[in-house]
This record gives sequence, C-alpha cells and structure tokens, in this order.
Amino acid sequence: MNRLNVGGVDIPVEKKRIKNMYIRVAADGGVKITAPLRAPDEAIRAFAASRAAWIEKQKQRLAAQGARAELLYESGEECLVWGARYRLFVEHSLKSGVRVEGENVVLSVPEGSSAARRAEMMDGFYRALLNEAIPPLLESYGRVVGARAASWRIRDMKTRWGSCNARERRVCLNLRLAKLPPECLEYVLVHELAHLLERGHNHRFWAYMDRFYPNWRAVRARLNGRAAD
Ligand SMILES: [Zn+2]
Repeated sequence: MNRLNVGGVDIPVEKKRIKNMYIRVAADGGVKITAPLRAPDEAIRAFAASRAAWIEKQKQRLAAQGARAELLYESGEECLVWGARYRLFVEHSLKSGVRVEGENVVLSVPEGSSAARRAEMMDGFYRALLNEAIPPLLESYGRVVGARAASWRIRDMKTRWGSCNARERRVCLNLRLAKLPPECLEYVLVHELAHLLERGHNHRFWAYMDRFYPNWRAVRARLNGRAAD
C-alpha cells in the first residue's frame, strides 16, 4: 500500500478499480484513503485536505465513545474519569474491583480474565460513580426546575446522552457521562428534567434552560464536539 503525506501526516492509500475516492477513520483513529487506480497524488491530497474537518470530527467522536469495541482494558490504556485522564493498571487478584490510585485506575481481576469481563468491571465502576452523583443532582435541580422525575436509570446508549419519557416522568442518562467533566452530567440531567415541562426543543424549552442552567450553551458545545446530542 502507498502512503501519502497530507499536511504532515502519513496516510495509507489503497488504489482499486473504483470510480470515487473514499476516506475512512478506523476505530483506533487511523485514517485510510481508497482511490481509483489512476488518481494522481495531487488529487488524493486535495481530497484529503478537503475532508480535514470531517476527519477531525470523526476522531473526536471515536475518542468520545472511548472506542469501546477496540479497548482491551489492558494496562497502559487511557481511562477517563469525570473528564480527568488516568492510566489503566490491571492487577491480578482473586478479589475483583476497580479503584482510583494516584494517576492510575487500578482494575483488579483474576488472572486470565477476558476483555469482555474487564469491560464489564469498568462499566460497573462508571455506573457506581453515576449512582452516587445522580441522586443529589436530581434533588437540587428538581427544586430548581420545579419538576421531579418519578424514576431514573443509567444506560449505555450509543447515540444520545440522555432521554426523558415525560409521560412516565422517567429520565435516562448515558453511562459514558461518568467519563466526561461533571458539568456534562449536570447539563444533561437538567436538560432532561426541563423536558418534564416542555417536550420539544423549542424557544420555550431553551428559555427554561437559560433559567435553570445558564451555562448550557458552553457545556452542550463541549458535548457535541464529542458525540451525539
Ligand atoms: Zn432534549
């Protein structure tokens, strides 16, 4: 496979019997271009340059997802907790658990554990963080909004940060919020509570947000830079 230097980055280029050029960002953030057999380097370079913003966005989206499918949960991997970066350290122990220790998140598992088992442990860790953080926020923001959720739950959602079933008064929050700065959880929670008053994303809704969580624009921009709304 050829490689082409685009803006200082070496990008692999595969040439095939195809009509159009394609660019893809793999789960690990690697970029690859597929181009027609006769496409000149200059055209490929121009194509890559024209997609620079898109590539950046894809990389951010993948980073936000924690590229979960690609993570093996092995020592040395990066691990986010409330927006802070840690290193994952896997230790073998008969007793399983996850704890934060200095700059490390220490994952204790029996020797020979599968990546799926380690992923499950980390999900449990994030879930516990949220289980602790959410009730006091629901309490205080319930008062601010003047509406309370009848129930709430945490789900590992792929495309949304939260949801609200206004009829059932049930709020759902994304498990991955425990990886982001605390204000992200705060914003999503207030957003979903505000849906108890107004279901649509209309001017009334955003006026409520101005009142209940004046900093919502900045936090939302931050969230949207990372993944789905
Ligand atoms: Zn909404």
